[in-house]
Amino acid sequence: MSTAVVVGSGPNGLAAAVHLARSGVDVQVLEAADEIGGGTRSGELTVPGLVHDHCSAFHPMGAGSPYLQTLGLERYGLRWRWPEVDCAHPLDSGEAALLYRSLDATAAGLGTADGARWRRMFADLAGGFDALAGDLMRPVLNVPRHPLRLAAFGPRALLPATVTARWFHTPKARALFGGVAAHAYHRLDRPATSAVGLMIVAAGHRYGWPVAEGGSAAITRALAAQLAEYGGKIHTGVRVRRTADIPAADVVLLDVAPEGALEIFGDAMPSRITKSYKKFRHAPGAFKVDFAIDGPIPWTDPECGRAGTVHLGGEFDEIAGAERAVASGRMPERPFVLLGQQYVADPTRSRDGVNPVYAYAHVPAGYTGDATEAVVAQIERFAPGFRDRIVATTVATPADLARDNPNQVGGDIIGGANAGVQVVFRPRIALDPYDIGVPGVYLCSASTPPGAGAHGMCGYNAAESALRRLRSGRD
Ligand SMILES: Cc1cc2nc3c(=O)[nH]c(=O)nc-3n(C[C@H](O)[C@H](O)[C@H](O)COP(=O)(O)OP(=O)(O)OC[C@H]3O[C@@H](n4cnc5c(N)ncnc54)[C@H](O)[C@@H]3O)c2cc1C
Repeated sequence: MSTAVVVGSGPNGLAAAVHLARSGVDVQVLEAADEIGGGTRSGELTVPGLVHDHCSAFHPMGAGSPYLQTLGLERYGLRWRWPEVDCAHPLDSGEAALLYRSLDATAAGLGTADGARWRRMFADLAGGFDALAGDLMRPVLNVPRHPLRLAAFGPRALLPATVTARWFHTPKARALFGGVAAHAYHRLDRPATSAVGLMIVAAGHRYGWPVAEGGSAAITRALAAQLAEYGGKIHTGVRVRRTADIPAADVVLLDVAPEGALEIFGDAMPSRITKSYKKFRHAPGAFKVDFAIDGPIPWTDPECGRAGTVHLGGEFDEIAGAERAVASGRMPERPFVLLGQQYVADPTRSRDGVNPVYAYAHVPAGYTGDATEAVVAQIERFAPGFRDRIVATTVATPADLARDNPNQVGGDIIGGANAGVQVVFRPRIALDPYDIGVPGVYLCSASTPPGAGAHGMCGYNAAESALRRLRSGRD
């Protein structure tokens, strides 16, 4: 029986472990933290009984993951719950733009000025999402299975989000697209910043933006349960720093940042690869604030109260300005804030009328200031009176995020900047980007294609590379 060690138990580490174990490999997972899950954990961060997500919260790419969908995770307790509205984007006019799972409902909400345009932008991407995801969620140098769909997506994806936004006439539609495009965590006037926004909106129109019932940790628990069923073992509290920390195995998969791979295998890696890993660029940081609040958020537009996600940043140009500042290392007065009301879809998160609210601001990499007030001010701007409802607050600075999980370098929550060629070629340009140049060792974290998200596809793709090696019997 072949053996494998997976370092790190984030969704990619666990997906890799499950794929290997299901393929008949004897798998051990080593996790530095006392708890498994990495970016897919939940817990009582504010007051007892309230369930907060530490990191990943909304899962269009999880529900739409070509690999996770094959695992039947529902049998292991994963239950997706959908809010009525996927995402709301309030404006200072008092009105909010609303993104529904239904393309028709979203288009209807954008009115005659932009409804038809939204449909033209997203109908083919949403309709063909499964085929597109199949090609885009693996290394881009593979021969595409659906070249025509890819050819239709490519030119749109390569545009800066600022150009795509101009396709829409109204501030509402522009802001709605801009808030999703800001998930690219990069200057929106840079090439290819439309790609992330287009994919997340298309995934949403196909699968919605669901939360996991009981918290995102349910995804982790389901993966770990399946791994155990196939004989895999997980050891927590094991921080791997050198090769000697890894038990002998035929293949090793690293759910770590490029810095982590350098720390463990740097001496054995070819210098051309260590050079490119050292040049790897991280994204700006996140400053996370979790609140316990008494009752619902008093949104000016009550429609926001039906949404799982609320994007706070005003009109498109303001968001683009905030993202530009953050990418150049400056903290904007009004940062882009992503707010989560998971309890709207999943009431099991709340207790006795007190609700968990999840929010994080985009801040410069390694930001050392306190952004709590900036986050509260952005919420108050669209929900006056929010401040008075706060029962408890817990903050995680970029330094806290990095301490909690070494993959989150400088508070980077997306495993590396979506800048330049790194959007598709990460951590380096290579036919097999998972190969770190040491025989039998593969990188499987979000720093590899297809990048951030709790979709497990980096892990699955890396495990495929490892299995090819095991099947070919190379030593
Ligand atoms: C605040 C925040 C919000 C997010 N929101 C969403 C969202 O709504 N939807 C979504 O899909 N994604 C979201 N993400 C992103 C998502 O969580 C990540 O993209 C995903 O978790 C990456 O998975 P991974 O397995 O590559 O790494 P991680 O989840 O980071 O896991 C890596 C694991 O490896 C361990 N590890 C690292 N180095 C070592 C070592 N040397 N030895 C042993 N163990 C090690 C770490 O402790 C960690 O447990 C969010 C992330 C954050 C932080």
